[in-house]
Amino acid sequence: MQQTATKPERRIPALAVSRGVGIGRVVFLQGEKRHFFRIDLEESQIDAEILRFRSAVTECTLQLNEIASHDPHDSNQPVASIFGVHLLIIEESSLVEKIESVIRDRGVNAEWSLKVVTDKYLAKQNSVADLHFREKYLDIEDVAERLMTALIGSPSMVQLTYSGAVVVARELRPSAILEINNSNPAALITERGGWTSHTSILAREFMLPMASGIRNLERTFSHGDCVIVDGVNGQVIIDPDTDTLAHYDKITAAYTVSNDLPDVISEKATTLDGVEIAIRANVDIPEAYQLARHFGAEGIGLFRSESLITRPGKIPSEDEQILAYNQMAEIVGKAGVKIRTFDIGFDQLTGDGLSSELNPSLGLRSIRFSLQDSTYFRTQIRAIFRAAFKQSIDIVLPMISGVSEILQSRTIIDEERASLAREGIEIGSPKLGAMIEVPSGVFTAREIARRVDFLCLGTNDLVQYLLAVDRDNDSVADWYQTLHPAVIRAISEVISAAKSAGIPLLICGEMAGSAFYVPLLIGLGARELSMNVNSIHQIRRLISGISLSHLNELIERVKTCETADETETVLREHYLANWADLFPPGLLNSKHR
Ligand code: PEP
Ligand code: MG
Repeated sequence: MQQTATKPERRIPALAVSRGVGIGRVVFLQGEKRHFFRIDLEESQIDAEILRFRSAVTECTLQLNEIASHDPHDSNQPVASIFGVHLLIIEESSLVEKIESVIRDRGVNAEWSLKVVTDKYLAKQNSVADLHFREKYLDIEDVAERLMTALIGSPSMVQLTYSGAVVVARELRPSAILEINNSNPAALITERGGWTSHTSILAREFMLPMASGIRNLERTFSHGDCVIVDGVNGQVIIDPDTDTLAHYDKITAAYTVSNDLPDVISEKATTLDGVEIAIRANVDIPEAYQLARHFGAEGIGLFRSESLITRPGKIPSEDEQILAYNQMAEIVGKAGVKIRTFDIGFDQLTGDGLSSELNPSLGLRSIRFSLQDSTYFRTQIRAIFRAAFKQSIDIVLPMISGVSEILQSRTIIDEERASLAREGIEIGSPKLGAMIEVPSGVFTAREIARRVDFLCLGTNDLVQYLLAVDRDNDSVADWYQTLHPAVIRAISEVISAAKSAGIPLLICGEMAGSAFYVPLLIGLGARELSMNVNSIHQIRRLISGISLSHLNELIERVKTCETADETETVLREHYLANWADLFPPGLLNSKHR
């Protein structure tokens, strides 16, 4: 890439959450709940964009007229007058005019212009001491929010091609990554997000280099800046000089993968001394399994069914779910799909934006929500039973904290089975599994194991809940220690609980697809791993180069370690001394706590 200005190069440390290197120009993605880009318009597109903005204004005017038209004598009178003020802001203030001027003069899309104008108002608000004026600005903010909702809902004539761009956002939702990935960006930069956040997991799945943990994005970057996202060493380089660009161009080439599919692998992954390890895939889109099968995956070990909820509150119907599960099961065949029931918070299920909790990861989510109001859970269970007719599909219950949740879930599952039978509907017989990922689940894993057909271990949440460290928060990334002795003991305990009950255990979190941790998991007794598609090839190669006899010795040493750092050093030294060539370049030099 050509550099345009002669500004000095700046290097900013970041958290590398998806490996690889991406070089491109900065494109900002705005919005917390809804994302939008800055789009530079062609001269010929400006009039259409202004028309689009005007129709959003008309829509908001209609909405406000409707709300403000309440009888002034009824008890809603204050409501009517507030929204009457909002109407005046739209109809008589210069807000609309100013936004149109920005669209025209700067040649940018309506969403961006709205943001530029509102930001100016907000900046003024902060400098005004008079409370009355401050409150006025709150009204303006509210109107701007309404306009933004109308704009984002309206189809745009202007499409942004962010092919080759570096997308910069405060936070990215997983659904945004799916959308962005369609147009082939070079890399992603976010302010928030840890290694196991769903956004980072998807970025790795799509092989999109990503760096997070950079503060004050808008002060750090400008639209159109040339940047290098170094997702290997964890840094972002702004305005790189020619030597730096040449150096990174070579690295980018090394990370470019061939599109050629290998032949389908059907044998199990086996260690040098003949221990078979089942490799399954974490897959949310049916097509991704095609690739997984070529790499030798045996079925889908984790289908995060909440990926079917494309917008908050838009829960797929029973028939829509059956269709999705069938598609998945047909592609996978006998090897089977493990469908994890909705692992999502209350606000995402209701979509009303009013029910956000102060502490969502400890709140009404996942299995708790399914049991508290079983409506959606019952629909999902019915859909799974129906899709499982002649197909190999199992159910996984997330966030199980003890036996009582299994008993309650079983009651609902049995009721739905009976009700389907009464209706004469053909159903299958899915097995039931529990995802162990909270400490209480670890300590009661033996009891839980006696009441289910298999266990899954969710290491992403296990680390989060065991160490009380938010997995999505990069500021505490140093405390998110996968190799903490408590985590290793918890994993051993769950492996042993499954073994005693004589049921399979599938390890699912990011740990299971990460080369640095896989020998440790196998040494601790794991025999089934479920991982992202892009990890399969590398992990299979690693497994076929290690031997259990060698691992036993290593595990004995690991068990004596008192800190994550010490464990990391022991593992690294062992790998370097015995299996250095089995690891991807650079992996053994980077941090793996
Ligand atoms: C986990 O917690 O490890 C897991 C497998 O699920 P998720 O990442 O979706 O929470
Ligand atoms: Mg989880």
